[in-house]
Amino acid sequence: MSGFEPSNVPKDHLSEVALEPVHFASSIQPYGVLFALSDPELIILQVSANTQDYLGISAQHLLGQPLGVLLNAASLEVIQQALENCGSFSKSSLRVCRGEKTFNGTLYRTAATIILELELASSPPEACHVQMHTLVKQAIAQLRRVPDLTDFLQLAATEIRRITGFERVMIYQFDAQGAGAVVAEAHRDDLPSYLGLRYPATDIPEPVRELYRRGLIRYIPDLSARSVALIPTENPITQQPLDLNLSVLRSVDPCCVEYHHNMGVAAMLVISLIQGETLWGLISCHHQTPKPVAFEVREVCELLGQLIASELANKVNTEELDYWVKLRSLQSEFVKSISQIDDLKQALVNPAPRLLDLVSAQGAAVCLEDEITLVGTTPSLEQVRALMQWIETQPFIPPTPPLSSFCDPVLFHTDSLPKLYAEAEAFKDSASGLLLLQISKVRRYTILWFRPEVLQTVNWAGDPNTSLNVAADGCVTLCPRKSFERWQEIVRFTSLPWKACELENALDLRNAIVGIVLKKADELARVNQELERSNQELDSFAYAASHDLKEPLRGIHNYSNLLLKGYSAVLDDVGQSRLQTLIRLTRRMEALINALLKFSRLGQAELNLQPTDLNQSLHQVLEDLSISRPDFQTEIRHPRPLPTVNCDPVLIHDVLVNLISNAIKYNDKPERWVEIGYIAGNREWGIGNGERELPSKFHACTDTAYRVPTPYTFYVRDNGIGIRERHLDSIFRLFKRLHEQHLYGGGTGAGLTIAKKIIERHGGQIWVESIYGEGSTFYFTLK
Ligand code: ADP
Repeated sequence: MSGFEPSNVPKDHLSEVALEPVHFASSIQPYGVLFALSDPELIILQVSANTQDYLGISAQHLLGQPLGVLLNAASLEVIQQALENCGSFSKSSLRVCRGEKTFNGTLYRTAATIILELELASSPPEACHVQMHTLVKQAIAQLRRVPDLTDFLQLAATEIRRITGFERVMIYQFDAQGAGAVVAEAHRDDLPSYLGLRYPATDIPEPVRELYRRGLIRYIPDLSARSVALIPTENPITQQPLDLNLSVLRSVDPCCVEYHHNMGVAAMLVISLIQGETLWGLISCHHQTPKPVAFEVREVCELLGQLIASELANKVNTEELDYWVKLRSLQSEFVKSISQIDDLKQALVNPAPRLLDLVSAQGAAVCLEDEITLVGTTPSLEQVRALMQWIETQPFIPPTPPLSSFCDPVLFHTDSLPKLYAEAEAFKDSASGLLLLQISKVRRYTILWFRPEVLQTVNWAGDPNTSLNVAADGCVTLCPRKSFERWQEIVRFTSLPWKACELENALDLRNAIVGIVLKKADELARVNQELERSNQELDSFAYAASHDLKEPLRGIHNYSNLLLKGYSAVLDDVGQSRLQTLIRLTRRMEALINALLKFSRLGQAELNLQPTDLNQSLHQVLEDLSISRPDFQTEIRHPRPLPTVNCDPVLIHDVLVNLISNAIKYNDKPERWVEIGYIAGNREWGIGNGERELPSKFHACTDTAYRVPTPYTFYVRDNGIGIRERHLDSIFRLFKRLHEQHLYGGGTGAGLTIAKKIIERHGGQIWVESIYGEGSTFYFTLK
């Protein structure tokens, strides 16, 4: 998405061009001769038609002959040695003689064939070597000293120009899409500068770039020279034209000739800059007139090209480095601060500039689940919502992964959103550029960063839209440029492109957020586990302790009884009364221990869940209570039948017993009533109040924050003594009673604690609302 491509060049056409094999050839340039030889016999299978000029023998006489008819034994020996070092994709340079003449040669293999290319050597070669050696040494020393990339490339262009003598030396750098830009240049003073010009990817299509990746140097001393045919045109072994992708002499494509002719170029030398496996760029040397360049000079250039390419990684783009350092420090500060704050949204958007500076954006939208928070200059909330909906349907967003909540990060960026999403034209001023970071698809965490439209003038070298020619039959050919004047295109709906270091920052932010969220979830899980373990320990401790305490307690009780009965004659009234108190206290203690035992057993026993008709449970409870209380004076209100729910019937029976008996117990009114009902949805329907909106606390428990799946909340309401606000929570604590022991029929203070534990074990909640002096309502939910 970054970089500029000619807007109306159809992409399909580019790939069609890219399919054409450009390296199969049946002719060469005339500055040397080419032999195709059988492997390993070295019989001449094909030869260029110009052997008479160079070697004094016609091509026809050479076909079918061994190479020995041309070269002396020493030269043949050189060739044999070179062949031993020659892999399938490498070539060797050598020197051979025929009579008085010395030739520089290049030797390599293609499918089942050996290719030998010979050029007349310049004389005397030794002198040339010495001169080259000095030049190269100087160049290397200087190049190594320059740390900044721009300066380095500039120096490289200058040095290559000094060594080769070309009028113009340019260094192109390719971007990810294959378009190139002139990033350094050295030229004759009177020539116009091409520095900064951009070349669309179509100028050097992929097959041509592949050739540059393989052959490190391309030399065309005279673009207008007539090419020389190979005889025969096809290789007799493969029945195909020769694969000349490693060839030095390979003839020039007519399209390339015309292209450079339009540029006013008559000779050229191109050196590849390969970094790893990638064609980083090219050093392109141009001359307005034909220009011979000695073989040795070209070899030096090839070597220098390799050196320059290998040094590229060591050089730094100082400006970019400064920017990168700034971004990284912002990033680490940001990550530090978000890891200290619990509220992720607040951490991301406060203070606002931090999130924007992280990727140099002017606006951002932080989308956490359904909540969108806008920061800086952005489209409106509705526009962002619509954009998010569009994004969801785009193929760059993968489908939701079924298991993990954090899928591979999705990072999408464009510097021209309106070209992909026409609606974005309406908000081009805030969001022509979009950088999308999906943190988690399942959790629906996404951050969008926006950049405004920047009207840009792109200086193309020639009109990028005319470099392809589509013929009437649909066949596509490269069409050479007619003009190399700067061709300016105003680019609309486009923001500044997103840089690699900005994308890296966005991804790192995502990783940090995922790390923080996961860490928090881990911590929570660990605390929960710990809590569960200590609860279990506590339960089993309480169980064991209360169980063990019962036995000595029974002893105390029995001995006290024995004392009272057997020694009544000996004990005076005070002694007898004290013993009676002791017996009463042991009974109370037993009740407390029993309550504790029941409570601790609850933590250990499995729930016996089953569909339970609560009407039956209630009926049973009421029966139990009236049987144990013959003086039952309380009106029981039962506004509508209770539903059937999935629960442990024995335990829920205990809850109802406790709540209803409390409602009866803690009542001093002359006319007492207890109402047992339930609430479905957020409306309550009861005899006392009719239909009413639920109290706020109820909302808190039924809205989605609590995600209670069953819609039932049960209640037990009374018109009793009520509970003061400050005791509403504490009455659920173990053994907490608000009254003296002898008031309201006594009790252990464990009933509500046990009820709470039962409800919570069912995944529900229990709470109370009360008006002191008027009455209380106990609510509980069941999952
Ligand atoms: P117990 O009833 O055995 O004392 P509970 O745990 O059931 O123990 O209740 C704890 C305390 O909460 C009671 O002692 C009482 O003070 C208060 N309480 C419980 N239910 C009611 C109610 N319906 N009205 C007023 N106070 C109540």
